[in-house]
Amino acid sequence: MKNRIAIVTGGTRGIGRAIAIDLKKAGCKVAASYHGNDEAAQAFKKETGIAVYKFDVANFNECQEGVAKVEAEIGPVDILVNNAGITRDGFLHKMTEDNWDGVIDTNLKSLFNMCRAVIEGMRARSYGRIITISSINGQLGQFGQTNYSAAKAGVFGFTKSLARECANKGITVNAVAPGYIETDMVKAVPEEVLKKIIAQIPVGRLGSPAEIARAVCFLAADEAGFITGETLSVNGGQHME
Ligand code: NDP
Repeated sequence: MKNRIAIVTGGTRGIGRAIAIDLKKAGCKVAASYHGNDEAAQAFKKETGIAVYKFDVANFNECQEGVAKVEAEIGPVDILVNNAGITRDGFLHKMTEDNWDGVIDTNLKSLFNMCRAVIEGMRARSYGRIITISSINGQLGQFGQTNYSAAKAGVFGFTKSLARECANKGITVNAVAPGYIETDMVKAVPEEVLKKIIAQIPVGRLGSPAEIARAVCFLAADEAGFITGETLSVNGGQHME
């Protein structure tokens, strides 16, 4: 992966942060995007030396501009990791339209926004690695997450379709489906609920962001060119397909 140029959306915190750091360790030139938390982004930049870019993955124009800026400053994108995501949980009978749209736009429409911005260049250069972070809850469904599970399940269809479209162009498109990982997102889950979740994980603990980064780096490698349209589940055995 030496000198490959990578964008990790939501790359300044949590799972994305670990992915950005590991891609850099593997020799990539990395850009990490974020949305609103300037403090975390600046601290990340200072600590890692990785460039940060602020734009909303849910917004089409911002993504086109954000990618153009990365390409002007670092170079043409070889690796795109669609990691940014949010939850806005609630039972469907209480869910607001804003919470539906926010989750669908940030977790699913963002794939269109970001892939659209890089795909023509990847096709022209006959090389690309696109990896999207889905979720075990897109595979199984979850109480209070019709919006999130729909978006994360949508990732699988998108991934397989784009993989087919680009297979003859040296571009692979894959998904990683994490189980429960120790990040700010999971810290928001009430402790009682978390205890019940951990009881369902054969490995007996939450995963770490580094364990997801390991899977992403595997799929991002030049040598992974024969793996496309796949989902790699990293969930401590909680869900075995
Ligand atoms: P965190 O909440 O810890 O970090 C989210 C990152 O995404 C932050 O950098 C945040 O930026 C960025 N982000 C959020 N919304 C936007 C947006 N609209 N535009 C650009 N960037 C945005 O999340 P996790 O690390 O826990 O999750 C990362 C991914 O992994 C998500 O897609 C999530 O759904 C998925 N996942 C997580 C699991 C878990 O257990 N944690 C399990 C399964 C899947 P900022 O700092 O500015 O807010």
